[in-house]
Amino acid sequence: MSNRKLGVVFASSEAAPFAKTGGLGDVAGSLPAALQDAGCEVVVMVPKYGTIPERFREKMVHLCDFYVPLGWRSEYCGLDMLEERGVRYIFVDNERYFKRDQLYSYFDDGERFAFFSKAVTESLQHIDFHCDILHCNDWQTALAPVFLREFYQGMPLYENVKTVFTIHNIAFQGQYGDKVLSDVCGLAHIPNAARQLYCGPQTVNFMKGALCYSDRITTVSPTYAREIQMPFYGEHMDGILRDRSSILSGILNGIDMVSWDPRTDQSVAANYTAADLNGKKECKAALQRELGFEVRDDVPLMGMVTRLTKQKGMDLVQYALDTVLSRGIQVVVLGTGDTCYEDSLRYFDWKYPNMAARIMFDSDLSRRIYAGCDMFLMPSLFEPCGLSQMIAMRYGTLPIVRETGGLKDSVQPYNRFTGEGTGFSFANFNGDEMAGVILAAADVFWNNPVEWKKLQVHAMTTDFSWRRSAEEYCGLYQGLHPEA
Ligand code: ADP
Repeated sequence: MSNRKLGVVFASSEAAPFAKTGGLGDVAGSLPAALQDAGCEVVVMVPKYGTIPERFREKMVHLCDFYVPLGWRSEYCGLDMLEERGVRYIFVDNERYFKRDQLYSYFDDGERFAFFSKAVTESLQHIDFHCDILHCNDWQTALAPVFLREFYQGMPLYENVKTVFTIHNIAFQGQYGDKVLSDVCGLAHIPNAARQLYCGPQTVNFMKGALCYSDRITTVSPTYAREIQMPFYGEHMDGILRDRSSILSGILNGIDMVSWDPRTDQSVAANYTAADLNGKKECKAALQRELGFEVRDDVPLMGMVTRLTKQKGMDLVQYALDTVLSRGIQVVVLGTGDTCYEDSLRYFDWKYPNMAARIMFDSDLSRRIYAGCDMFLMPSLFEPCGLSQMIAMRYGTLPIVRETGGLKDSVQPYNRFTGEGTGFSFANFNGDEMAGVILAAADVFWNNPVEWKKLQVHAMTTDFSWRRSAEEYCGLYQGLHPEA
């Protein structure tokens, strides 16, 4: 057994701070540095989008260029590199595919990301890096494990490359007409590949390819890993995931503990720590003033910072707000999304003086909400991991969550017999059950301040760092390379 560091090529269609539309961007922006701290060598590969800010572009160093075989043609591919926080980021350059105004939503997304997946696989022989693990994320990189096995397997350089595929959200699978299979992927004449990629008449599914070909499948929480094996959560992939359950596991995401820190956050009214929560009272009073609420420490203030969608449980919120607001609980919701939810929140804002709807995207206000509230509501229908509940806990704001996915794995429900917990939870997707738990939480707030504070301290001192996740990923990689 040697002590060689494992080489990980981490392929992602987005990575903060270069290009980000959601949680995947956060993961690819934070996890690789933590993986390096945990003892791996990491290179991150991302498309070189036209939207990457100039300040990064001018620091990129050109590494090489070559042509990528794509069906019956060859496409140009340049590789540029930039080091950020000690991690090497390699940008895949092809202006025809990536020099556009946004990351996704083009008619040829299937072709663009098939190219990206092939370019990543091809790159392994052009970069000066020993790849032990090719770690792909979501449908945009899902074809890389397929290409690796079908086209590169026989070459010595690729012989020992193991593939890991992480599902960040199974709702998006990359489904395209089967023309892409012959024209772009060059896989139509390989019966085994074609069979595994098809998901219906004339339709291929990129994610299905990764689920069939990868050596390990992970998702971003252990509970979501179990849930997606059931039809309700599996988005038609549950059968394959049940078949491959022995290689499927869940690793909870972390949050950026430096950026989200009530001790140093510059956007909040006062800083505070778990040892001295006085500043949180000031944050609450400032938020109540800002929202036009009565400034009262003895009234519970509950917040939400969320996309206003069905996934986030907005149907339950609509249903239960009358009950909650008529009990005097103050509620603030910050979010944008489906018009029906935006409108109903505006209605409650109009009807109740203790309700504030802020229909906008505002990072600073989100910080004032995380810091100023007593409770944070997240009643999701499904939740692969969820970051907001972890951020809320970091700020001593107790989450009230539905027991699904990462919410179940990150929030320890209050046990009134032992006093333990970091928040409150309910099991069924039911508005009355949710309202009941909100009122039970308010009851602890009103009648048991000592217990409340204990929960806050426990929540604030729980470890949600990327270090914990990175160690688990390293363990997984090591399992694939016992010789290293
Ligand atoms: P998802 O990625 O499914 O939307 P997460 O809980 O994983 O949900 O992450 C949501 C992130 O986006 C959190 O950091 C949250 O603070 C932020 N966010 C969501 N909506 C808003 C908003 N309207 N204004 C500011 N930040 C928001």
